[in-house]
Amino acid sequence: MNISSADFVISNVDVSKCPDTKLPEYAFIGRSNVGKSSLINTLTNRKSLAMTSSKPGKTLLINHFIINSEWHLVDLPGYGFAQAGKGQRDKLRKMIESYILLRQQLTNLFVLIDCRHEAQQIDLEFINWLGESGVPFSIVFTKADKLSGSKLNENISAYKTKLQEVWDELPPVFITSSSNGKGREELLDYIDSINKD
Ligand code: GDP
Repeated sequence: MNISSADFVISNVDVSKCPDTKLPEYAFIGRSNVGKSSLINTLTNRKSLAMTSSKPGKTLLINHFIINSEWHLVDLPGYGFAQAGKGQRDKLRKMIESYILLRQQLTNLFVLIDCRHEAQQIDLEFINWLGESGVPFSIVFTKADKLSGSKLNENISAYKTKLQEVWDELPPVFITSSSNGKGREELLDYIDSINKD
């Protein structure tokens, strides 16, 4: 897929205030610092469409972008902020959960995982919740340039094995790097193929 246009539409905290259109929506989520903003900027070929933030948890909003006038890319807040207080964390969880469960336009949720780390409880719980809730999702490993090929394969196999402890069928998996563009085409082509279905 070629990206001919990518523009910010709206940020909000309330799923009922998301754009009132029928366009398919692809949302991105992950723990803060996973590389979500960098990936969104790489996918859209824009330097700063999504705000890369040095302060974890700075982006606490549901952010809509319109791509090629055809689909919405949605940047969801990171989950599991160590720094945020419980009240703030609960509020965020509710916002994310209502978007994921209520937003009918949501076509696929991309869950970002840093390929360097072992499977983390918070990600596994989230993924299991998505599976139980019947949400269509894929897993996107980020920062692949930070590992050697063999270590990368080892980590991804270990992750899949962990998921297979719970699920017979694995979701689609993408391996990406915002530094060298790995996985960009595959991910965009995947979105294209769903849009054309
Ligand atoms: P976010 O908090 O999930 O939006 O993460 P950011 O996109 O702000 O990235 C967090 C940090 O990881 C920044 O210092 C990025 O430069 C770095 N980073 C993100 N993606 C990659 C990647 O693919 N490769 C490398 N080497 N660094 C990355």
